[in-house]
This record gives sequence, structure tokens and C-alpha cells, in this order.
Amino acid sequence: MIKEIQAKTILSHSKHPDPWFGIQYTMNLYRGCQHQCIYCDSRSDCYQIENFNDTLIKVNALELLAKELPSKRMKGTIGTGSMNDPYAPVEKQYQLTRGALKLFLLYGFPVHVLTKSKLVMRDVDLLSEIERSTQALVSFTITTCDDDLGKKLEPGAALVSERLTAMKYLAERGVKVGVLLMPVLPFIEDNWENIRGIVELAHAHGAGYILAAFGMTQRKGSQEYYLRQLERLFPGIKEKHLRAFGNRYECTANEA
Ligand code: SF4
Repeated sequence: MIKEIQAKTILSHSKHPDPWFGIQYTMNLYRGCQHQCIYCDSRSDCYQIENFNDTLIKVNALELLAKELPSKRMKGTIGTGSMNDPYAPVEKQYQLTRGALKLFLLYGFPVHVLTKSKLVMRDVDLLSEIERSTQALVSFTITTCDDDLGKKLEPGAALVSERLTAMKYLAERGVKVGVLLMPVLPFIEDNWENIRGIVELAHAHGAGYILAAFGMTQRKGSQEYYLRQLERLFPGIKEKHLRAFGNRYECTANEA
């Protein structure tokens, strides 16, 4: 279900840049995510999202952003895509991410977009302009080089091959692009053939960097969902996963 809501604020500031993504402000224009990745951490109870299948649209987000941006003294990198994908299908209609990019350009803020969508190609004009004036990074999450496996793990997202095409498209037009090789799902994706394949494809499609984390995390809420999907999609893996990790938060791929 898609619902429109009013947000109170839109930018959250952290004193120190995030060590992984160099992000100083986070922005979520939507709540819930249509990509429905089976391993998504945003399903965890701690985030208090009632129903992750619903997508909530913060329809006043651009109005808030236009007020909040000029009041920020530090022009730190704004990250978008940690709790939802800024280019999930709903963005086609609402264009909140596009509107936010226009405001970043206007007020001189760098941006780091994290996505699994090809819709980001639509905004190449704004992204390349931001890159010329400050910095625009677009990181594509790629955890497998196999489209069929990708469809099982990330059913609502673009095919992996489409993400790679989008990455090349942006790279050729001057946007800095790279790959988020995370998570690497134990017993499913943690084999050298997969990792080497992603590295080679990333290089061939213009990636300037790869940020990798060999494993996954699980918490109350996201874990139960993940285990149910393992049972449905990968017979026998749930038992192996539970034997190896139990309820541990970090499930490292090299222990698989
Ligand atoms: S794209 Fe990201 S936020 Fe959306 S479901 Fe997948 S992991 Fe979660």
C-alpha cells in the first residue's frame, strides 16, 4: 500500500562522517521500500516501521528541505538510501529524489546516493552538475552477478545487469560511481566465483571503488523475515545459518 504522510523534519545530522559512506546528513524521503530485499535491516524492530510492505511518501519533504538546507552551516555530504531506496518505483511518480537533488545543487551540498535501481539514470543531468560543483557519488549495491539469484534476494529491485548498465551510463557522463558489495550472504553468495565476478563486472562498468562487507547482520524483526525467506527459497540453508550464527548480530561470510 502507498500512503502519503507529513514529516516533521527531513535531514538528520551526525557529528562525524559515517566511516563507510562519508555521510554527514541522512535523508529519507520515503519510509518502507518497494525493493523488498530479503535481508533488509530496515525491517528490524528497532526502527519501528509498522509494515515494511507499505511505502509512506513524505509529501512535504521538499518544502522541509528547502527550509532546512540554508540553515546548515556545514556543507557536508547528504546520504540517501540507507533505510529505503531513493529510486524505488514510487519515485517515478513523486520525484522527491529529483526535487532534493535540485535543492542540493542550489545550496551547494555534495550527495552520496545508494541504490539498486536504474531509475537513477533519469537524474544524470543533476548528478553530473552536482559533481562539477561539489561531489556526486552513486553507489550501486551488487551482491551477486547472477540475475536469477538477484531476483530471489531483491525481488523489487532492478536486475543486477540493469544496475551495471546504469552504472556505466552515469560513469560515462562524469558521475562518480562504485559498488557496495554488501551484504555477502553466508552459504549463498560467499564463494570466490561470485566475488571475483562482481569485481570484474564493476571494473568493466566504470566503478571507481568497491565498498565490501563480507557477511550480513541480523536483528529482531529482520532475522525472522530472513529465515522465513531462506526456508521458502533456499531449502536447507536456514538450518545451516542457524547452526553457524544462532541469534548473533554479525554473521561473517568467512565462517560459512
Ligand atoms: S533496497 Fe535497501 S532499503 Fe530497500 S529493501 Fe533493499 S536493502 Fe532494504
